[in-house]
Formats: sequence, C-alpha cells, structure tokens
Amino acid sequence: MFMKNDIRKTSNPINIRYRTCPLCEATCGLEIHTQDREVVHIKGDKLDPFSRGYLCPKGYSVKELHSDPDRLQKPMIRRGQDWQEVSWEEAFSEIRMKLRPIIEENGNDAVAVYLGNPTVHNLGLMLFMPMFLRTLGSRSIFSASTLDQIPKQLSSEIMFGSDANLPIPDIDHTDYLLMIGANPLASNGSLMTAPNMRGRIKALKERGGKLVVLDPVRTVTAKQANEHHFIRPGTDALFLFGVIYTLFDENLVNLGKLGDLINGLEKMKFLSKDFPPEVVSSKCGIPAETIRRLAQDLAKAQKAIVYGRMGTCTQLFGTMNSWLIDVINVLTGNLDCEGGVMFPNPATRRALSKRVRKPRYNRYQTNIRNLPEVLGELPVSSLAEEIENPGPGQVKAFISIAGNPALSAPNSQRLNDALEKVDFMVSIDCYLNETTRNAHVILPVPSPLEKSHYDITFYSLAIRNIAHYSPPVFDLPREKMDEWEILLHLTAAVNEQVIEGDQRKTLDDFTIKELIKHEIKNQNSPIYGKDVYEILDFLKDRSGPERLLDFYLRVGPYGDHFGGNPDGLSLSVLEDHPHGLDLGALHPRIKDILQTSSGKIELAPSLLVEDVDRLRETIKTLPDNLLLVGRRDLRSNNSWMHNLPVLVKGEERCTLWIHPDDARRLDLINEHRVLVQSRTGQIVVPIHMTEDVMPGTVSLPHGWGHNLPGTRLKVAKKHAGTNVNILTDEQVIDKISGNAVLNGVPVSIEKV
Ligand code: SF4
Repeated sequence: MFMKNDIRKTSNPINIRYRTCPLCEATCGLEIHTQDREVVHIKGDKLDPFSRGYLCPKGYSVKELHSDPDRLQKPMIRRGQDWQEVSWEEAFSEIRMKLRPIIEENGNDAVAVYLGNPTVHNLGLMLFMPMFLRTLGSRSIFSASTLDQIPKQLSSEIMFGSDANLPIPDIDHTDYLLMIGANPLASNGSLMTAPNMRGRIKALKERGGKLVVLDPVRTVTAKQANEHHFIRPGTDALFLFGVIYTLFDENLVNLGKLGDLINGLEKMKFLSKDFPPEVVSSKCGIPAETIRRLAQDLAKAQKAIVYGRMGTCTQLFGTMNSWLIDVINVLTGNLDCEGGVMFPNPATRRALSKRVRKPRYNRYQTNIRNLPEVLGELPVSSLAEEIENPGPGQVKAFISIAGNPALSAPNSQRLNDALEKVDFMVSIDCYLNETTRNAHVILPVPSPLEKSHYDITFYSLAIRNIAHYSPPVFDLPREKMDEWEILLHLTAAVNEQVIEGDQRKTLDDFTIKELIKHEIKNQNSPIYGKDVYEILDFLKDRSGPERLLDFYLRVGPYGDHFGGNPDGLSLSVLEDHPHGLDLGALHPRIKDILQTSSGKIELAPSLLVEDVDRLRETIKTLPDNLLLVGRRDLRSNNSWMHNLPVLVKGEERCTLWIHPDDARRLDLINEHRVLVQSRTGQIVVPIHMTEDVMPGTVSLPHGWGHNLPGTRLKVAKKHAGTNVNILTDEQVIDKISGNAVLNGVPVSIEKV
C-alpha cells in the first residue's frame, strides 16, 4: 500500500497554482504546489504585486487546514448526544421542518444569526448573504463585528456618512505613525490591509520616519517602534483628548485643504477644554510633557497618521476613541492626504446611489437591555439574554455561520448555557467546535482550496487599490456544497421550500437580476437606464459568485461598464492575471465619499459629543484592581486555527503575563498557576512574569479554551489553553456601539 502511494506520488506531475491566502486581512499571494488532490508545498507568491512573496506561518498552514482529518465532510444531525452523518437532503429537510414552525409561531426575529469573522474572507458567503438575510427577515443579526471593529465603522458612518468608507493609513508614504492599541506584527494588519507589516515598518524607519506605539503591553510591534509608551487600559480617550487640547492650545491646528469641509470645529475645541494633558496624565499614565510632545510631533510631521485598532475599539469608549483618532487626523491636516489616512477606491465599489444617508443606528433595539441596533446588527454581548428571556422577540432558533461565539463572546459560560437552550440550531462550519457542538444540524463547508476567492471586504481596507481573483485550486467534489449553494438551500428552507433540479439556477438568476435591476436605477451608475436582459446577456457564461463578482467588477470604478469602457476591468481580465493586479496607490477622494446630510465631515456629532459626559463620570472612579487586557500572536487566528499542528506546537502560549512588581506583591513566581476572578467567572492559568506588561495590568490571549466536551478537535484539545472570555463581562459595553469590552477588565488574582 505504501509502495503504491509512493509510486503515485513520484509519477504524477506537480501543479503550481496561485491564490490569495484567505486567512487574514493581509491578502498575501500564495504559490501552492499540488499533486493530485494533495498540497505538497506552499510558499509566498513572489509575483504577487501586493505581498511580493511575503508569507506568515498561518499562510503555510493552509496545507494542514486542507487535509485536517477533523474537518467535517458530511452534513450531520444531532440526536441527543449522538451525531449522525446524513445526506444534504435529510439535513435541509430537518431544517425546513424545524425552522419554519418557529418562525410562524414566534416571528422572524425569533431566529438569530451569528456571522463569524471568516465570513468576510469568503466570496460565496459575502455575495449571497444579503439575499439570505433579507429572506429570513430577522432583526436578530449578530456578528463578530461587535467583538471587534464596529466602533470604527460607526464613527465613520457618523463622521463621513458611511461605514463603507474607513480612513486607511497610507503607511508606505508616511513620515510619522502613532499606533494605539494595535499590534500589526502579530495581527498582520487590521482595518489596514497590508501584507508584510514588518517590512513596511522597517521601510518607514529607513526613510527617516518614526513609529510611536501606545499600548499597555510592549508588543512585538512596540519593540520595533522608535518610542513605546505604556498607557493604562481604557484611558485612550483621555490621551486623545489631551492631544486635541494641545493642538488647539498651542495653535497647532492645520486643516489644510479640508478647511471648507469641516463641521463642528469650535465645538470640538470647546469639548477638549476639560482635558489638558496636565489633567489626563495621571489617569492614563503618560506624562503631560509626553502628550504635548506627541501632539507637537504629529503637527510638525509633513505626513502623519494616528491609527488605532483592536485595543481602542474593544473597551468602554471604543466609539469615542475611533472618532477622536480621526479628529486628530483632521486637525493635523492628515485626513485624505498622501502619507496620512485615505479612503481606498476598491474595484468592486458601486457608484453612490444617494448623496445623503441617515446613519444606520438605533432603528430598533434589543428586547432586554434596549441596546441600539448598529449598522443592521445587535451586540453579541446581548445574545445570551435574548435567548434566555421569554417574551415577544425571544430568540428560539440560532444559525451560526463560520463563527465560534461560545469562545469569543464575553461571559462565554453564560452564552454556552444559553445555546444549550435554543429550540433549534443550525451551523455552517468546518468543525465540530465549542459552538457547533450545540447545533442540531451542521452543514459542512469545503476546504479553502476547493472554492474561489476574492477579498471584497479587505480590498476596501487596503493601503493600495488591489484586485486579485483566485479560482479553486481543487474542483469541488460532487458530494460537497460551496457555502453560497448552502445559503441558497437555507434561503429556500426558511420559506419551507425545497431546491430541486433547475431551482438552484432560478434562485441564482434571481439574485443577479435583482442586483442589476437595482443598479440600472442608479443615476450615477455607468449602466444607468440600461436593459436588465442586455446586461444579463454579458454575464450569461457565468453563474454563482463568479457572475456576481464579474458584475461588481464591471460596474466598478475600473470596470469595462459592459462596453462603455472597453479596456476596463472584468473577471476575465483578472483571470488572465493569476498573481493579481495592482490598481495603484490611494488618492485623495473625500468629496466622492462624503454622505453626511451636511455634506461635510462631522467633527463633533451630537451622539458622540453627548457621550463625553460618560467619560467625565467614568474617570472619577477608575478601578484600582488589576486590569486584564488581551494579546495577539502571529500563529493564532482567533479561535479557529488551533487544530493545526504547525500553529500550536512549541511552548504554551496561553499564559497570563504579569509585571514582576505585581507578581512580587502577590508572592508569585514564574512556575505558579493563579486563580483569576472577575464578576463573571474564574479561571486557572500559568503566569509568565515579564516587564513587557504595564504594572497594574495583566494580559491573556483570546481564542483558547478548547477543553469543552463534545467537540472534535483532537489537536486543539491537546493544546486547550484557557478561555479569557469566562472573565470578560457581557454587561459592560461601549455604550454607543454596544461593542464588547475585552480590554481593561477588572480582575483579582491569587496563587493556587
Ligand atoms: S499574513 Fe495573513 S494573508 Fe498573509 S499568509 Fe499570513 S495569514 Fe495569510
């Protein structure tokens, strides 16, 4: 048997395929060597115009992910504690039978959906999700966004009129980069799609630029910085106000070309008056003279950026931080400027249909805490209570898609208990994990190499305008379904319908027709007023995600406009460029993107201004507990890649970092394990004493805790680690966005 395989391996040719890595925001190009249906080797694609051969350890792990024996291959139905592999027909029949009665009896909102982070890395899910969610008609939509970046999206929605346009650091052309709560050398960049952050930071320093990092942990990024300053968790807004105060106080405000486009300058000046550096310094732990100097440096630099990420969003004042960061970028003349922050112009962008939009905010609320809707979704921190509490709108059924909230949501023990109680749960996922073990039906997904790929979301966050389409490396086996097909079946199942024969095509055709109908009514679209069938005819050789993607590319800013711009972009053009296309550097385009009702940048919008009272109140009584913050590392991708041996080997990484001064005070040494307690729960973890964490702060990475019963994650179980979200509190949120507070959690520690 072995001999036979060996002969086969040596005799069959090796193929080389190129594609974008689907695992994180950096969108690196991969060169994948395959033999039959196996991956032999993966390396960075040197001809990729964006990543130029760069690859992190996760990129190589696509090989293990493709062949992971724990990846689910067939749909499964749970009967009691036993799982049975079933056919797709049986799985969808079960969903039809169970879901529809729940909707009929309790209304559409009784079905909650949770979209995990990998959803945005998946072309089929991104393109077919809107139709599924529209058909489901539920307002109980949750996603990993409220555990992460929704504060930034909300602040952009309010300041610029759309969450689709976030200001992205032009890192390759800046002179000065102030990073707060961001660790791109571990995360590979976030809300800043940029492969090889280490190389880009090195280039910044080599051209005489400066990197300054503020973080309660001396991260790998902080170690590369020209300056690092510890900042007390949860006080970033105070620091940012201290900088704004200084800019006004020392006459350093320079709006540059934005002068006519600003609303609220005087109000912002007035607001900042309460926060001189000399007042905020003792709260945030940064000397007043340092705050003033950093403000002066920002103002002096020709091209400067303030950039905040996870640490600034996942705390009590996430939306305020996101807003104030862009206020500083505006006040220093660095918004919409080369070397500052700019708005990408992605190839799939559609022309604006409305010049003015109302912020999508607080159009409805959660049932129990009345938390506001943000951008069409509700905070994950409220999910458990929405399941637990009887009454109108109670969540009775749950659909998880590519997510693991049982590990990633705050007070995850409570959410785990709640998920056990839902009447019916469906999961679309590759693993039987801590969340999907509660499902009644699991619909498995293909390997990342068995589907096509295009980063619709991340090219709209990229530091250059890039377009890269990757066809599947391997054909999808007949017995499997791509995610977009699963969504079509689920869409039908919600309506108690069965997809048979040509009906899949009918639904697929319906999706593209609706899109075209909408587009031809948009006066700003290059196909305004055209005939639906004329456009459909251009697309007749394609179906599924490829047809939708082709449509978006062709009506986009570089598109062929279905004949209107014959040399323009289409999917065929991208297919002829397997390494991807560089569409150029970012350019100023603020006037194209502003959609506020004033037509200006709202520097002091009332919703955010009113929240400043909360900041004033909160800082009066800062807790004197140790404060827990999160931590990223290069080989983790939230919770879902710990089943790959190459990513978990080596020393245990799930340790509690504690400063030696705090350890001494608590009589701890490195070998000790400690009991960490918060309002919501307690865990036992090994400690690691290090001066890389600020005194008074402890740090634990997220995504671990793979020791729950009923999962099928053999490797992850052996490297279980501890779930930090047993300690995070679902009742403590950023009040404006409802975002979870995962940093600055008060905890107590004792030796065990
Ligand atoms: S940095 Fe991100 S996109 Fe690049 S190889 Fe690593 S995981 Fe993949």
